[in-house]
Amino acid sequence: MTGTTPHSTSHTTTDDTFRQRIRTLLGDLVLPHADDWEARGHLAPAAWKALAGEGLLGLAHRGEAFLESAVLLEELGRTGYAGVRASVGVHAYMATSYLDLFGTPEQRAAYLEPARRGERLAALAITEAEAGSDLSRLGTRARPAADGGLLVSGEKLYVANGSQASFFVTLVKTRDATTRDGAAPARGLTGVSLLLIDADTPGVHRTEQKMLGWRSADVCRVVFEDVAVPEDRILGRRDLALIHLIQGLDFERLVAGLLALGGVTHCLELLDAHVRRRRIKDTPLYAHQAVRHQLAELTADHELVTQYGRHAARLHSLGKLDSRTATVLKLKATELAVRAAHVCLQFHGAQGCLDESTAARLYRDSAAGTIAAGASELLRDLI
Ligand SMILES: Cc1cc2nc3c(=O)[nH]c(=O)nc-3n(C[C@H](O)[C@H](O)[C@H](O)COP(=O)(O)OP(=O)(O)OC[C@H]3O[C@@H](n4cnc5c(N)ncnc54)[C@H](O)[C@@H]3O)c2cc1C
Repeated sequence: MTGTTPHSTSHTTTDDTFRQRIRTLLGDLVLPHADDWEARGHLAPAAWKALAGEGLLGLAHRGEAFLESAVLLEELGRTGYAGVRASVGVHAYMATSYLDLFGTPEQRAAYLEPARRGERLAALAITEAEAGSDLSRLGTRARPAADGGLLVSGEKLYVANGSQASFFVTLVKTRDATTRDGAAPARGLTGVSLLLIDADTPGVHRTEQKMLGWRSADVCRVVFEDVAVPEDRILGRRDLALIHLIQGLDFERLVAGLLALGGVTHCLELLDAHVRRRRIKDTPLYAHQAVRHQLAELTADHELVTQYGRHAARLHSLGKLDSRTATVLKLKATELAVRAAHVCLQFHGAQGCLDESTAARLYRDSAAGTIAAGASELLRDLI
């Protein structure tokens, strides 16, 4: 695998310098603490300030400068902690992109800017028990409050950053409950709106959901019980969030794909080092053809997905990312991560089966990658 690292083929010296800077920063700010965050179930509050202090929570979501974000996302993945990468990815990209795209100046000042400074943590609360792959089954509803605002009731599941978030970007049915002109209630994903809900509003309850992997991602169940939300917290167009979601989900898949890609880089580096070090009958594991061919296969696929991921990032930076490209990237990167993690575990032998081993963590973490942000089967249908 040496000599054909994905970093050597498509980036200029300036990009490599930037990548190296990001890698060094993550090496200082993330790696020494990540095991502790995995044990706690979330990043330490000080970490957000530290990341923001280095400008890592305020990189661009679009335009040419997004290419810097693409480097950050790959490098976050390369830390090898999918919980950390999910937590930062949701905060700095998946949740806040809706504010960046559709927020009013007041919403940007109250939510987006403090998020970029690491002062307010963002979460994205979309999924429900009956609405995961099929969002048309959404059950969280908003009805009109006496003061002209909304009262929100419902339950969201698997919300990353859930217990620590200062606000939720959430998807709610607004039309069927608020129609005043006698029109028929909205069906499917018509009549839904994105709402900004402050986590400290009375009626917001959150409980931790212990997951197989992504242990530092702070995944929670969030219940809204008659939560009062002022009218000016509707993000984007009322009742028409479907058009925002189409854009948001493509971006989410691009982000998830780039994060997973970095995760594969980490996994292959770990595997490479292991098979060179581990000796069986005085021969490094690496010398066995059965091992080399598996590594070659993974390395070749990693190279392809890396080039594809960077192509997708470039398209996005030009405002030309299409759903198909984002979907193919997310599907291929996360499925490659599963294969790579399996081979990595296998060649680590029993040591890889130790709960605290890195190979075991990568194996556990890879499983959620093909489900979160769009299950593989749904993505295949879309392609
Ligand atoms: C670790 C983790 C973190 C998450 N973080 C968040 C978050 O921060 N915010 C949030 O809102 N959500 C989050 N999610 C939820 C995630 O988006 C959903 O899990 C995902 O959309 C799938 O929905 P579901 O789990 O309800 O599975 P279901 O929709 O019930 O699907 C179950 C399975 O059915 C299969 N399937 C689905 N569609 C098809 C199809 N068309 N054809 C054939 N088979 C199909 C797939 O194998 C799928 O895994 C997270 C999930 C995980 C695992």
